[in-house]
Amino acid sequence: MTEHATQQRRAVDRVVTAHRQTEGGGFVVRRPFPTAGLDNLDPFLLFDEMGPTEYAPGGAIGAPDHPHRGFETVTYLLDGAMEHRDSTGAHGVIRPGAVQWMTAGCGVVHSEMPTDQIQRDGGRVHGFQIWVNLRAADKMTPPRYQGFEADEFASRTLAGGGRLRVIAGDIDGVEGPVNTTSPVTYGHVTLAAGDRVDWDVPAGHTAFVHVFEGAANVNGTDAADGQLVLLSREEGTISVTATGHAEALLLAGEPLREPIARYGPFVMNSRQEIVTAFEDFEAGRLGTIPAAGSGVIRD
Ligand code: MN
Repeated sequence: MTEHATQQRRAVDRVVTAHRQTEGGGFVVRRPFPTAGLDNLDPFLLFDEMGPTEYAPGGAIGAPDHPHRGFETVTYLLDGAMEHRDSTGAHGVIRPGAVQWMTAGCGVVHSEMPTDQIQRDGGRVHGFQIWVNLRAADKMTPPRYQGFEADEFASRTLAGGGRLRVIAGDIDGVEGPVNTTSPVTYGHVTLAAGDRVDWDVPAGHTAFVHVFEGAANVNGTDAADGQLVLLSREEGTISVTATGHAEALLLAGEPLREPIARYGPFVMNSRQEIVTAFEDFEAGRLGTIPAAGSGVIRD
């Protein structure tokens, strides 16, 4: 018996199977949401697994210049290298294990592309992009960019076996380095068969486990590669036990409980604010990306 065995466990609300979708310049993502049946998991607006894709030389594709307003984009890369440029002048290369947490706020134009080397030589690209909503009061804040290298994330062996990396928030006493705008927890677990992680999530927070390799049991419910297990918001522990080798992301966040008006790259609270976002973008008020070589080098 462990200390968690007698604690209440959150009930499983549903299991969502990611569907394949083409994004950006034509790359394939696995996307559990948004879909026609599931618009968001407040405060999370989108969850994309990019690849894993093995690109042939000359075949790599990304997302050329496009705008965002009203939320945050969080990119976590496992394989490959993505180059980012934006209208604030920021420029960086996201490498395996690194995270870019970008607060689009009032607006940014950015490009997210495999590096020139991967475009030329080909290679494997695998990662995640999650969109986190901003409160109405934070939607028009100036854009902000937080970049973290792989070695900035605490990684440790779990009592139940396996490895845990914490990107944001606190899991099992391990704290992530990201300064989030609203309370968000983001972890990555790598488990061998039988390994277990017990995750205590604050009551009321939305929480889900996304299995992206192997298979795991989440509070009594089996999930395979590409399946997301959404838990109820009651107080209680979430136990993830690998039924084979498994990798999973753990996500939780405080729901904002505000109206959501979304269209493409803009997420606001009202339809009029979406119209204004398009007008501002078309008038150039979200800026443009400076020419290569003139930006702030972060890599
Ligand atoms: Mn983007």
